[in-house]
Amino acid sequence: MTRMLAIANQKGGVAKTTTVASLGAALADLDVSVLVVDLDPQGCLTFSLGHDPDQLESSVHDVLLGEEEIADVLLDTDDNVTLLPATIDLAGAEALLLMRPGREYALKRALAEVAEDYDVILIDCPPSLGVLTLNGLTAADEVVVPLQCETLAHRGVGQLLRTVNEVQQITNPALTTLGAVATLYDARTTHSRDVLGDVADRYDLPVLDPPIPRTVRFAEASASGTSVMRGRKNKGANAYRGLAENLWKHWEAGTPVQTFDTA
Ligand code: ADP
Ligand code: MG
Repeated sequence: MTRMLAIANQKGGVAKTTTVASLGAALADLDVSVLVVDLDPQGCLTFSLGHDPDQLESSVHDVLLGEEEIADVLLDTDDNVTLLPATIDLAGAEALLLMRPGREYALKRALAEVAEDYDVILIDCPPSLGVLTLNGLTAADEVVVPLQCETLAHRGVGQLLRTVNEVQQITNPALTTLGAVATLYDARTTHSRDVLGDVADRYDLPVLDPPIPRTVRFAEASASGTSVMRGRKNKGANAYRGLAENLWKHWEAGTPVQTFDTA
């Protein structure tokens, strides 16, 4: 059975893309077969996994519009995950898809053709709640919300959860909200934990264990064309390894995810 997880938050800079790349690589290190999907026209996931979006002939854009077979567009990466890449063309897909019936189902239909080849599919949603994010949420079984642990992190979370709720009512009744992933976490002060506790309470959103600490290694990694998992050992990579183990246990054993106590 293939697990499809959407990583969504319409706020930019909360580490959605970093989470998809690092978690994907960490799962691959556990011998899990992983497909990652770049749904952001900026193509940051594509770029960070070693492929220049400007050099690609075809992308998820062509797949969503039914102009390419998904299997012909997939790319290998040095992180041992398969990538469905994005290019800037995807910015136009939003408008083109809007004119089509069943527009929320385009990604779900495409992924169904290759899903059996993968244990896990991770979907990197763009920083908006438009038709691309709706495609991600419609295809997924579960969604996690990366939250940057700073003041005002909660802004927009209510709107995102309302969108998830609408998707559950209209296009994907089986969609489950797994919880938040705490990113850019600073364990040295109580501020990060206070922010998390506030958001968790306010929205009844569990925080997945472990939080991901802030470390400069992430900026170095995204410029290098491989995820942070490939570099020398560091606390960011260790945290994503822990998150991968937590999620994989949940999927394999059918047990609830381990949560982080913010109290
Ligand atoms: P999003 O996809 O939500 O816009 P990104 O994954 O692109 O966010 O991350 C935004 C920025 O934050 C990037 O420059 C990335 O390198 C940096 N970043 C992500 N996670 C961490 C972390 N744990 N520590 C330090 N920097 C991080
Ligand atoms: Mg991103």
